[in-house]
Amino acid sequence: MYQDLKGKVAVVTGGSKGIGNAIAERFGAEKMNVVINYHRDRAGAETAAAAVVKSGGQAEIVQADISTEAGAEKLCQTALDHFGKLDIWVNNAGMEIKAATHELSLADWNKVTAVDQTGVFLGARMALKYFKANHVKGTIINMSSVHEQIPWPTFASYAAAKGSVKLFTKTIAMEYAKDGIRVNAIGPGAINTPINAKKFADQAQYDQTVSMVPMNRIGTPAEVAAGAAWLASSESSYVTGTTLFIDGGMTLYPAFKDGQG
Ligand code: NAD
Repeated sequence: MYQDLKGKVAVVTGGSKGIGNAIAERFGAEKMNVVINYHRDRAGAETAAAAVVKSGGQAEIVQADISTEAGAEKLCQTALDHFGKLDIWVNNAGMEIKAATHELSLADWNKVTAVDQTGVFLGARMALKYFKANHVKGTIINMSSVHEQIPWPTFASYAAAKGSVKLFTKTIAMEYAKDGIRVNAIGPGAINTPINAKKFADQAQYDQTVSMVPMNRIGTPAEVAAGAAWLASSESSYVTGTTLFIDGGMTLYPAFKDGQG
């Protein structure tokens, strides 16, 4: 637990399930006040909110499409209306569409980049506007992926968006460091969430994924949430512009693990 997080106000996008849900719950355990965004899954957001309250924090759930300017504004306004301030913004929402790139439609490319890239820009811009206007030394955390670094054939739109999140994070970290605003990314590896449910239900695909992880297992949403809590807290006060990989070593070129090459 991080004492300085108590009473801090955070927005978490895509908080109805998976990693976002776990971050909201962890922030609740830190006794924070959390605006939990959901797109379609109201029940999931309600479950996360109940967990936050049970742990001693406060929560508000908000339906919003984070790929729109109105969505980001609604989230910020909810934080201000209910909790009176904003300290931390987590751009977690994301999606992926599998397609061979020569068959990837423009509509699907736009769908993925609207959420995974433009959504991150809109959320970060909203937080930066508030932090600047109110002289808040706030923190932004962008959910990237190991695929900001590892190419991912048939997921070109996702990899392109996450690669963009990496340099966007570094750029605004540099731009706002003088204001005391810290901006970091988290790069999860293979985590057990609904985004992977279909893949992990297939034993062969599950085993194949595990074989790419030096630690030989899939990660949990709570393990990613622990990284988000650390990046949000002042324990990471000298950390900005970096990606914290939480991936069991997936980015360590696991094919070399037995000394081949
Ligand atoms: P998930 O599918 O369980 O959750 C994604 C969340 O994003 C959902 O709550 C969904 O409603 C929300 N979302 C999607 N489009 C939205 C929109 N337009 N507006 C608002 N919310 C929207 O996936 P997850 O695994 O929890 O993924 C969370 C983040 O972590 C994503 O950015 C994902 O790319 C990243 N990530 C996940 C893994 C993994 O293995 N699970 C690995 C690397 C990166």
